[in-house]
Amino acid sequence: MTDKVARLNAVKENIARAEADARRAAGSVTLVAVSKTFAADAIRPVIETGQRVFGENRVQEAQSKWPGLKAEQPDIELHLIGPLQSNKAKEAVALFDAIETVDREKIAAALAAEMEKQDRSPKLYVQVNTGSEPQKAGIDPREAVAFVERCREVHGLVIEGLMCIPPVDENPGPHFALLEKLAREAGVAKLSMGMSADYETAIAFGATHVRVGSAIFGGRT
Ligand SMILES: *Cc1c(COP(=O)(O)O)cnc(C)c1O
Repeated sequence: MTDKVARLNAVKENIARAEADARRAAGSVTLVAVSKTFAADAIRPVIETGQRVFGENRVQEAQSKWPGLKAEQPDIELHLIGPLQSNKAKEAVALFDAIETVDREKIAAALAAEMEKQDRSPKLYVQVNTGSEPQKAGIDPREAVAFVERCREVHGLVIEGLMCIPPVDENPGPHFALLEKLAREAGVAKLSMGMSADYETAIAFGATHVRVGSAIFGGRT
């Protein structure tokens, strides 16, 4: 067993324990294995264990490795978890099965147009900048519910859930709680929150998807 496979198994055990501790159903949390910066050869052993959901943060990098991996294993579900520029909407709609980083009107419009043109419907999440950090992507939490409504009413999009990346130097719990509250107000069911350092905490706060990279693949250079 490779290091990566051993670490993946440990993460899956931790998720199962966190689900049980939170009195949540076994299997209610989906692990998104974040493979950014790792080459196809490093990802393949993880696919071979049965892991099917992966996350990438750059469209161009994902295009360089995932069409081939998806051809080998067609039931892969690939999530875009990094910022999206509207001039990359076409490529993103063509490759990704979920786009977690819808955060402004221009992106919502570009995605709606491409989804119609390509007759593809990746699942969409709205990214919320729960810490209102100026350098970080995501819609301000005070505007998040209205933005979800505009995505639906103006752009005809189905929004599956909300996503957040809490500030690195803060206790993540209040950010996860805020995202959960906003999701309830907006009427969306899915919560993508929690990374290697805090996925168990996120599960306690209701995460349905945790995005775990380095705890599986090792450190990134
Ligand atoms: C890189 C990344 C992750 C995974 O981070 P780790 O700390 O390595 O688990 C999760 N979410 C987003 C948006 C990322 O860019």
